[in-house]
Amino acid sequence: MGKYVLGVMKGDGIGPEIVTETVKVLHAVEAAIDGLEFDCKELPIGLDAYETMGSTLPEQTINALKKCDAGILGPLTTHSYEKDNPHTVNASGALRRKFDLYANIRPARNFPGVKTRYDGIDLVVVRENTEGMYADRNLYYGNGEIMPDPDTVLSFRVVTRKGSERISKIGLELANARKKKYASLVHKMNVLDKGCGLFVNSAKKVANHYPEVKIDDYHIDAFALHLVQRPEDFDVIITTNMFGDILSDLTAGLVGGLGLAPGLNLGDDFMIAQATHGSAPTIAGQSIANPTAEILSAKMMLEWLGIRHQDEKAAQAANLIEEAVEQVLLQGIKTPDLGGNASTSEYGDALVHYIKEKAVSVQGSSLK
Ligand code: NAD
Repeated sequence: MGKYVLGVMKGDGIGPEIVTETVKVLHAVEAAIDGLEFDCKELPIGLDAYETMGSTLPEQTINALKKCDAGILGPLTTHSYEKDNPHTVNASGALRRKFDLYANIRPARNFPGVKTRYDGIDLVVVRENTEGMYADRNLYYGNGEIMPDPDTVLSFRVVTRKGSERISKIGLELANARKKKYASLVHKMNVLDKGCGLFVNSAKKVANHYPEVKIDDYHIDAFALHLVQRPEDFDVIITTNMFGDILSDLTAGLVGGLGLAPGLNLGDDFMIAQATHGSAPTIAGQSIANPTAEILSAKMMLEWLGIRHQDEKAAQAANLIEEAVEQVLLQGIKTPDLGGNASTSEYGDALVHYIKEKAVSVQGSSLK
């Protein structure tokens, strides 16, 4: 393979800044590794797309994305979108539904050079991504929140056997491939006995096919406690949509913040790389956003492309990006959220510089 068409969607707020650095880093590994090529196609999305094309998720973007090998998506300032306007959909949620990207993979681990309260954390939140509580994506038609009278709101939460089984399979495959071989099922079955019950029972049934993986299950409230008391004990955390959304911000906080928290929206045939965090509007346009989470999301995309196409070069590029992030952080080049004074682009430049130097130092091997 070696040549990939990537749909690049910058998003709102800090999105354009962090996605620009991500593309820069991708071009650096492309230049460093013989036979690896990226055709990055910028596709309109978010508030800019609404202004210029009348929709936060134009049909053209969806159609173009269908022709890509994978997507890279920045965050969107969805709290400010008009809620009842069909042209201002939350494009993150809509893309997850449209491309059936049912698994949201959000790793959190300690990085060298980043001081945190905790050591030894290396875990992954595997969050169901297409059903659950989020009203803009849990029904085929309509919105999962209704008001029978002006003072009452009913919110639907959708849990299906199919959704529970397939997210569990992804999580258990991942746990089986990792060192600890340990999965935690997180739920609130003591109260939500039907929905969480279906989720846990489905997961346990799937787990019978993974005898090597140790399984525990936890109530979400107690699990939040365990996560801050002994985060180093956990490995793969499999959970429903909203619990996973909340827990993955918590786990980002354990390892240094949202600037270090990457993510993948994964389906059976397609994926979109997207950091865990939102569009951080209060720091947008100041060149102080940390692009690491988005860059590491693209690194996860390369790992996926490497597995899907049995392409060692994509896997090699993923390793090179991760090494560059570790080494640059160790050198103390950090954005302000991590206590440094590098701008978003200075940090990106440092990664590019590391990748170029590495390519020169190993000339004659598989790098150029
Ligand atoms: P947020 O994740 O944008 O920000 C939370 C905090 O983390 C803020 O202090 C912010 O400055 C900081 N932060 C986040 N990313 C950072 C980065 N890369 N570098 C440095 N600091 C960073 O969450 P929020 O404030 O709740 O939401 C802001 C907007 O983003 C809202 O409109 C929300 O709806 C939207 N949102 C979008 C997504 C998405 O598109 N996937 C996800 C979550 C929130």
